[in-house]
Amino acid sequence: SRAPDRAFFGQPRGLVGLFFAEAWERFSYYGMRALLLYYMTDQLLDGGLGIGSGTAKSLIAVYGSATYMAAILGGWISDRLLGNRRATLLGGVLIMCGHICLAIPAGAGALFASMVLIAGGTGLLKPTISASVGDLYAKDDPRRDSGFSIYYMGISVGAVAAPLVVGTIGQSYNYHLGFSLAAAGMAIGLVVYVCTWRHLGPASSTPKNPLRFSEVRRSRLFAVVTAVVVLAALVATAVGTGWLDAGGIVNAVSVLAIALPVGYFTVMLRSSRTTPVERARVRGYIPMFAAAVCFWCIQEQGATVIAQYADESTDLTAFGFGIPASWFQSVGSVVLIVLTPLFAALWLRLDSSPRSPSTAHKFAAGLVIAGLSYLLLVIPGLHPGNSSPLWLVGSLAIVTIGEMCLSPIGLSATAKLAPAAFATQTMGLWLSSNAAGQGIGAQLVKFYDAGSAAAYFGLLGAAAVVLGLVLFGFAPVIRRRAERPAEAARQEL
Ligand code: GLN
Repeated sequence: SRAPDRAFFGQPRGLVGLFFAEAWERFSYYGMRALLLYYMTDQLLDGGLGIGSGTAKSLIAVYGSATYMAAILGGWISDRLLGNRRATLLGGVLIMCGHICLAIPAGAGALFASMVLIAGGTGLLKPTISASVGDLYAKDDPRRDSGFSIYYMGISVGAVAAPLVVGTIGQSYNYHLGFSLAAAGMAIGLVVYVCTWRHLGPASSTPKNPLRFSEVRRSRLFAVVTAVVVLAALVATAVGTGWLDAGGIVNAVSVLAIALPVGYFTVMLRSSRTTPVERARVRGYIPMFAAAVCFWCIQEQGATVIAQYADESTDLTAFGFGIPASWFQSVGSVVLIVLTPLFAALWLRLDSSPRSPSTAHKFAAGLVIAGLSYLLLVIPGLHPGNSSPLWLVGSLAIVTIGEMCLSPIGLSATAKLAPAAFATQTMGLWLSSNAAGQGIGAQLVKFYDAGSAAAYFGLLGAAAVVLGLVLFGFAPVIRRRAERPAEAARQEL
C-alpha cells in the first residue's frame, strides 16, 4: 500500500479543505442563528417580523432539531444517489440560497423558504462532509480520532466568529445585511471546497450503494410518495386549523426526534445488506448512541437554560462593566479551540499505544464530565441572589472538555463502524443523536426556573454521571463487539 499522506501537521492534505469549508458553513449557520430570534421578534417598524417571543423560540428549537434529523435523508441521498462530494456541493448551494432568501427583505414567506432550504441543505452537507473526513483514513489508521478533533475545531472557529460578525452587523445596522454576510460566508466555503476537493479520496466521489432504478418497484415508490403527501397534508391541516399550536409542534418534534433513530436502527439491523459482522458492530454502537443523546441533551441546553441562567441569575457587572449575556455562548467555542491541539496530541499518543482507550471509554468520560458541569452549578444555585460569572464559565469549560471526548470521537467511530451500504446515512444517524438530545431537552427545560436551579442542575447532573459510569462498566463488552465483531456475530447465532 502507499505511504499515508502526512502533508498537514501529519494529517492527510484533504483535511485542510474540509476544515475551512466546514468552518465557513458553520459561520453562516451560527451567524444566522445568532440573529434569527431578534429578527423574528422585533417589531415590523424596526425591520423585524413581529412574531411573538414564545412562538419564535419554539420555531427556532424545532428548526434546529429538524436540521439534524434531515441529515439521515441527506445521508441516504449520498449513499444511494450522489456520493459525498456532489451531495456536499449541492447542500452548500441550497444553504447559500437559504441565506440569500433572508438577505432579501421579503417577510415571513422568505423566512419559511429559507428554513426549508437551510434545513435541507444542512441535512445534505453536514453528514457528507463529515463522512469525507472519514474517507481520508484507512479503517485502522491511528490518526483518525486526532484528525476528527482537528476537523471539529473548524466547527468552533466558524461558530465563535459568527455571532460577533453576523450578529453585530445584523443587530446594529440591518438584519438583511447580516444575513447577506451569512450567505457570503457559505459562498466562501463553497469556493474553498471546490478548490480543494481534488485532495479527497476516490471514496467520496461515488455513492456507496448506488440505487439501480430498474430495481425500484413501482408499488413501493407509489406507497412512499403517498405516505409523504398524506403526512404533509395532515400536518398542514393540523397547523392551519390551529389544532397543532407551537406547543404541539414542539411535542411532535420531540417524539419524532426519538422515534426516527429508533426506527432507523431497526431498519439497519434488519436489512439484508447488513452483514452479520456489521450487525454486531451496530449493536455495540447503540449504547454509545444513547450516551450521546444524554450528552447533547445537556450540552445543547447551553443555548436555553444556561442562557437563561446567565441572564437572570448571574452578576453581569461583577467585573466593573456590563457583560452581555450572549457572550457566554462563545465560551465553549473558545475553550474548544484552545484545547484542541492538546487533545489531538493526546488522542494520537493514546491511540498509538498498546493500551489505547476504547471509544466507549471516551464516551463514558464525556458523559460523566458533562454531568459534573451541571453538578458544579448546584453550588451557586443553592445561594439566593446573583452568582459570579466565573461559575458559568467554569461549567461551560467543563462541558466543552466532555464534548472533546465525545463529539469528534463519535464522528470518527461512526465513520469506522458504519455498515458499508449505509456509510453516510450512519453519519446522518449520528447527527440525529443531537436532534434526539434536543428533543428530550425541549421537554426538560420546561421544569427549569431560577428558584429551583440547584435541584434542576443537581438531578440532571447526577443522572448523567450515573449513566456515564454505567457505560464505563460496559465499555469492555462494547469494545469486544466493535473490535472483534466476527466473534460477537458467531456467539449471537
Ligand atoms: N456543535 C456541533 C456542530 O455544530 C454539534 C453537531 C453534532 O451533533 N456533532 O457541528
